Amino acid sequence: MRLILLGPPGAGKGTQAQRLVDKHGIPQLSTGDMLRAAVKAGTPVGLKAKAVMESGGLVSDDIVVGIVADRIEEADAKKGFILDGFPRTVGQAEALDRMLAGKGLKLDHVLELVVDETALLKRIENRAAETVKAGGTVRADDNPEAFKVRLDAYKAQTAPVSAYYAKTGVLKQIDGMQPIDAVTAALGRAIAG
Ligand code: AMP
Repeated sequence: MRLILLGPPGAGKGTQAQRLVDKHGIPQLSTGDMLRAAVKAGTPVGLKAKAVMESGGLVSDDIVVGIVADRIEEADAKKGFILDGFPRTVGQAEALDRMLAGKGLKLDHVLELVVDETALLKRIENRAAETVKAGGTVRADDNPEAFKVRLDAYKAQTAPVSAYYAKTGVLKQIDGMQPIDAVTAALGRAIAG
């Protein structure tokens, strides 16, 4: 099964993706995680991405499409994957379509978590506080300034991605304001139906 989780920053994509990993045994491919790993390792991609990520802006389509193309070639992604944080632009969505069509593959589901914008900043603040409590390091972009840039990037560049998939009939929208378990259940129904 190949699926995409769409939704603004703080919508709960990471949490739900992890649950889908556990349930379906397919990997979560988070471009954010891959880019953060590249930044940490100081790779050429990481060096290019670091500043733009810290500011909350989007890394270029070329870079991100390249890392996804490599990642879906890996053995664990052969039986399927959950894309989290990708595609974030219509250009990336088109590139993904070409990539999959070239392999004779298609997307099974595009699931969008729909959330109330005012709740998002609170969620990001909670995520930072929980990370601190657990002794972890808060993401460089989990602060109100970068968050605003991330939300603006989402509205300008990623919201059209949902319209792109609605056109092909593969999009399902889920109320992401429900409690976490209820969102998980709704995602399960959307995948089953
Ligand atoms: P995330 O963990 O998905 O919130 O991503 C963190 C940051 O990584 C984003 O704010 C962007 O700077 C960058 N990023 C992650 N995925 C993408 C993508 N598909 N396209 C462009 N930039 C991305």
